[in-house]
Amino acid sequence: MQRRQFIQACTGVFVGLAARRVCPLNAAPRFSTNPFTLGIASGDPWPDGVVLWTRLAPDPLNGGGLGWEMIPVEWRVASDERMRNIVQRGSTVALPDLAHSVHAEVHGLQPGRWYWYQFVVGEGLNRIESPVGRTRTAPSAGGAIDQFRFAFASCQRYEDGYYTAYQRMAEEDLDLVIHLGDYIYEGAFKPDLPRQHPKEEARDLERYRNRYALYKSDADLQRAHALFPWAVVPDDHEVENNYASAFPEDPGELNFLTRRAAGYQAYYEHMPLRAASIPRADDIDLYRRLAFGNMVEFHMLDTRQYRSDQPCGDGEQPACEERNIETATMMGTTQEKWLQEGLSNSTARWNVIAQQIYMAPFDRDPGPGELYSMDKWDGYTAARNRLMNFFADRQPSNPLVISGDNHNNWVFDLKRDFGDVKSPVVGTEFVGTSITTNGNGSEQKEEYVPALAGNPHVKFFNSHRGYVRCRLTRAACTTDFRTIPYVDKPGASIRTRATFVVENGRPGAVVS
Ligand code: FE
Ligand code: CA
Repeated sequence: MQRRQFIQACTGVFVGLAARRVCPLNAAPRFSTNPFTLGIASGDPWPDGVVLWTRLAPDPLNGGGLGWEMIPVEWRVASDERMRNIVQRGSTVALPDLAHSVHAEVHGLQPGRWYWYQFVVGEGLNRIESPVGRTRTAPSAGGAIDQFRFAFASCQRYEDGYYTAYQRMAEEDLDLVIHLGDYIYEGAFKPDLPRQHPKEEARDLERYRNRYALYKSDADLQRAHALFPWAVVPDDHEVENNYASAFPEDPGELNFLTRRAAGYQAYYEHMPLRAASIPRADDIDLYRRLAFGNMVEFHMLDTRQYRSDQPCGDGEQPACEERNIETATMMGTTQEKWLQEGLSNSTARWNVIAQQIYMAPFDRDPGPGELYSMDKWDGYTAARNRLMNFFADRQPSNPLVISGDNHNNWVFDLKRDFGDVKSPVVGTEFVGTSITTNGNGSEQKEEYVPALAGNPHVKFFNSHRGYVRCRLTRAACTTDFRTIPYVDKPGASIRTRATFVVENGRPGAVVS
């Protein structure tokens, strides 16, 4: 009854391009418990500022616990970790329509510098401060820098284990963390796992929100967010396993676009994304570029929202005619053109294409047959050929593809013609393993091993859990596969399982 009255008291407005309600403003909120249960984060650094994120959620696993009020939130940025020298401050309003999330876009900061930030809600005796986070602005556009360090991660199914990999990542010196998707998994509870998912699969906004809240309640994940700026793109499990644009995994599923809209909205609400990514109906704008001086440009792709449907089934399938269909698209025509233009115009030494599923072919049949996972670029060979031909013909500066999704570490040579061992290498792909998904890893996933010999462009294969760390200089990209031996208990130590070097102007990774 009370909730109904509040909804009726809310009126429509536009935030960005999306219709939102304006609800009663609670200028002096009182919280019975701390509302900063999901931590803080920063993201998408530009030379003059970043996005600062938090979400007010005193009851995080049950919708947040804040009803329909709008709540004012202050933020401040300092040049020191004790928050004494405040260089920027501002205020915003946490809206119930966005789950009381906060996305403060800060401008006017100095390029290439560390900053610290904090949120504050309430007044007087009811004043509550968030933890202090650290972030870093991008170097000035085109500016000369000696090095850039980043890590990338993906696939963190909560129930499969502990986020020890993030605990170890927090000990690294990094300028940026990239997340390549499967930040949450939508699935229902399964027994006998290290941690527990909720009973029901996430299909609507309320359950997607509660799922993010569960994942973001993890202290190791919160710490990795609090220490570095992140740049994020989702894969499939933020909505549903193996969906393709408007096509659900199960063709019989009704109202899939309504579900997709809920998944996209919850993703935006929980990520440090700019206002350009506020969802509109069932769409979200996520592909974008981030540049770091003259060293590197990241081309962040969305390979889910615009792709054609998987050919001949979305799982592992024998090669079929449809996988070579000319009209197949992985990015959609607009994004594909945007990528090619961006690569052509880039003045950066390194061009990192940050995307979801592995790009190189991998024929899983060790015999004369061919077996491919049709959810990957292997189901979209025409789209892959267009990009490989572009690399070969236009030679953008040092293209590196980084990928997630597969729960294994891989290094691939990218070639114009993968069937011809003499065809030149035109790019390099690093695929990162999962943070937790599929549980404790092993040296190599057994079922792929017999097929390795038939895929000579594979330079490395490993199935431990962890993340990938890259250091870029003018001369080289040095990539470390950081692995942990188990995730079913906390506390694993980390090691560098393998290191690969790509030299400037020489595509292809060489073991170091
Ligand atoms: Fe995954
Ligand atoms: Ca996936």
